[in-house]
Amino acid sequence: MGRQKRQPERTCIVCRKVRPKRELIRIVRTPAGVRIDPTGKMNGRGAYLCPDPACWQLDIVVPKLQRALRVALTPAEKAMIAAYAQALSEKSAAIEEQGSVDVNMNV
Ligand SMILES: [Zn+2]
Repeated sequence: MGRQKRQPERTCIVCRKVRPKRELIRIVRTPAGVRIDPTGKMNGRGAYLCPDPACWQLDIVVPKLQRALRVALTPAEKAMIAAYAQALSEKSAAIEEQGSVDVNMNV
């Protein structure tokens, strides 16, 4: 009864790949500005990106975000996106160095 709930899917605004919503990173336009929304629960117009550094190249992602969110990003918001992209690429580099991924797949 209702256990076969279909997973909501979203499209990455950069590579156009469709993935389950929970695998994507949501960026949301709030009255206070554009925010990264890891919970996916903030109110506002949202856009989705892969957790892949390749989809976070600033000169590509900024215009796509501005179009999707219908807003011009401030320098501070661009810096926030850049910092997040940096963190993502460091994370994936660390995973490559370790040669193994510690994910809790069996939860
Ligand atoms: Zn993507």
